[in-house]
Amino acid sequence: MSPFDDLLAANKNFSAAFTDSELTGRAARGLAVVTCMDSRIDPLGVFGLKPGDAKILRNAGARVTDDVLRTLVLAVCLLGVERVLVMPHTDCGMTKVTDDDVHELAARRGVDTRSLEFHTVPDQASALRRDLTRIRTSPFLPPSLAVGGAVYDVRTGKIMPVEL
Ligand SMILES: [Zn+2]
Repeated sequence: MSPFDDLLAANKNFSAAFTDSELTGRAARGLAVVTCMDSRIDPLGVFGLKPGDAKILRNAGARVTDDVLRTLVLAVCLLGVERVLVMPHTDCGMTKVTDDDVHELAARRGVDTRSLEFHTVPDQASALRRDLTRIRTSPFLPPSLAVGGAVYDVRTGKIMPVEL
């Protein structure tokens, strides 16, 4: 008995019906979406995309971290990405805690996280603006890269454009 048995079983069905063998790693729609790890978000479904269409970068809070920038450089240079949409969402857990709160919660589990930055989000609008600026002004990304922002509403499935 493994904690992953359900996944192994489900994959048997998935692979039996698999039809995407011909896809390449390039983003067919030239798109990268940076969004949150929140399990309510289906990034392909939100935009009517299918596997092969877009690069999906996810982390807590949809933050543009150094690793997101690293991944975007690779996506642009190697994988056909020409536009990036940063998409945080309503009711995000990252807007409800501070880094200190997380350190405290971890400490209660006997874990010292003080050397980590969690990039919690006290003000979602300003965090999104800062993250968009971070991509636009990155010396490692071309000026031709289209960069937009939108907030996904987990109650309605609608996106609210911020800078599109
Ligand atoms: Zn979130």
